[in-house]
Amino acid sequence: MSKKLEQLLICGNREALLSKEMEKEFYNLEQGFRGENEQLEWFKKYGSEHWHYVSNYWFNHGKLMEADMLVISEQEWLVIEVKNYHGLFEYKDGECYINGRLMSDDQVAKMNHRLNRIRHIGAEVSTEIKVVGAMVFINEHSDVRLENGNEFDVVMRNQLQRFIRNFRERNDYPLSNQKLERVSRVLKKHQATSPFVPKSLPLETFAELRKGITCKACGSFETQSKYKSIKCRSCLTTEHKHEAALRTAYQLRYLYYDHPEMLTRRNIYEFCGKLISERTISRALTSRYKIIGATSSLYYDIQI
Ligand SMILES: [Zn+2]
Repeated sequence: MSKKLEQLLICGNREALLSKEMEKEFYNLEQGFRGENEQLEWFKKYGSEHWHYVSNYWFNHGKLMEADMLVISEQEWLVIEVKNYHGLFEYKDGECYINGRLMSDDQVAKMNHRLNRIRHIGAEVSTEIKVVGAMVFINEHSDVRLENGNEFDVVMRNQLQRFIRNFRERNDYPLSNQKLERVSRVLKKHQATSPFVPKSLPLETFAELRKGITCKACGSFETQSKYKSIKCRSCLTTEHKHEAALRTAYQLRYLYYDHPEMLTRRNIYEFCGKLISERTISRALTSRYKIIGATSSLYYDIQI
């Protein structure tokens, strides 16, 4: 999951008021994430047990790019781009349209370029690796009009199962540990971090955020403080207070992405809905993070 989406999910959970722009972004990211997850489920169901999956692979090979998913098999790599569009996607004269509206990016050229670059990366592992690509339109309400002559397959939702089975017929072989290691090494060499980082919530929003500790299993706020643990009233899961404090501090860190100084003991205490004492919070966090800042406003240096 991208950092941005993770932040937006916490925003939703904590009932933060989002700007129109953030709301739209949330919707798009969530749609994309759902599509990717759904697609991965299909691969796990109909694909080979020997395949390895790399999701949201950001890489730099002359240019910074992302692949939604790589399916790594012994012989072939499949580069997947998932589109969760609702409506008609058209490509004409080098421009993309969704429901007749011009899109800012040329998705098709991008896909060709991505494939080309990953071919070079694959060749570093072995010149025998074949790299193929597919643009998967996972939404049942998707329709596509694309000119021919692209290097990749276009796969509609109702074709996905057959597509995976075909790929499996050619690629149902075990991948040796040695080769897998080589693949990981090369992918790692070109890996880059996503340029999309979350925007911080305005500091004054802190007072309005929903306070408390969410259950680590079901996400419910119906948690209560026990002697050394936090217990969920709805699913009865328990979590050690130290873990709960770290997890909740981490959520706070995400919300104020550009303001690490928000992570004071006091703020974490408030954010936890006062379910964990400041003393315990301090124990949990000092064991893991550096403390910085002036005496009056010490904060924990949580890197994300
Ligand atoms: Zn629960």
